[in-house]
Amino acid sequence: MQLRILGCHGGETPKHRTSSFLVGDTLAVDAGAITSGLSLREQERIDAVLVSHSHMDHIRDLATLADNRCQQGGATLDIVGIPETIRALKTHFFNDVLWPDFTQIDAKDGPTIRYVELTPNEMSPVRGYEVTPVLVNHTVDTSAFIIRHGSKSIVYGGDTGPTEELWKQVNALDDLQALLMEVSFPNDEARLAHDSGHLTPETLESELSKLTHGQELPVMLYHIKPTFEQRVLRELASLRGRNLQILQLYEEFLL
Ligand SMILES: [Zn+2]
Ligand SMILES: [Zn+2]
Repeated sequence: MQLRILGCHGGETPKHRTSSFLVGDTLAVDAGAITSGLSLREQERIDAVLVSHSHMDHIRDLATLADNRCQQGGATLDIVGIPETIRALKTHFFNDVLWPDFTQIDAKDGPTIRYVELTPNEMSPVRGYEVTPVLVNHTVDTSAFIIRHGSKSIVYGGDTGPTEELWKQVNALDDLQALLMEVSFPNDEARLAHDSGHLTPETLESELSKLTHGQELPVMLYHIKPTFEQRVLRELASLRGRNLQILQLYEEFLL
């Protein structure tokens, strides 16, 4: 499975982009940086966007992606997530106030976007992939995603504080190639991390102690807040025993 990093930070500056990943050419995971990172042609190839939750740093580029798709006359784009996320997008985002309701505006042979609701802990086919959402622990309803293609799977943790069900599901996977996990705040900001449903290097370490996979499993980290970047990186450097990789913009992996 090919993975391309379009956005891997918990905030934005000219050097930082919010969460967004591309699996193969056709499946995007969160929309923090799709249109800022991809050409029109690359955007047009996307069949579906998995949306972990409704926070702006994970959905913002759905607006510009849908707008471009509509003008390109491209195929219908699937916007995929748990029912609570889809409801929030309908009510608060594509609501004909903040942005047009693109389910009512045609592109090529049908609407520009189409919502696809997934049931937690159930595997569903999504445009050639098998996707299982798993609820995690954030300030709004949020899911991680297990994404399988052929006999390989990767896990994207979404935004989460300490959690349990995800580890049960992850530990049961025998084809896991990589785990993408958030870490946002430095250890001194543990209270802020707790209140906002995020991890620090310390709580990340404690979460990873629940993982039964071998130490060689790549654990790819994203969502570091730009303001705290140096402190978080220093603290991560002292963690031992796991194959931690700090994701960088525009990196590509073959998993
Ligand atoms: Zn969030
Ligand atoms: Zn976020």
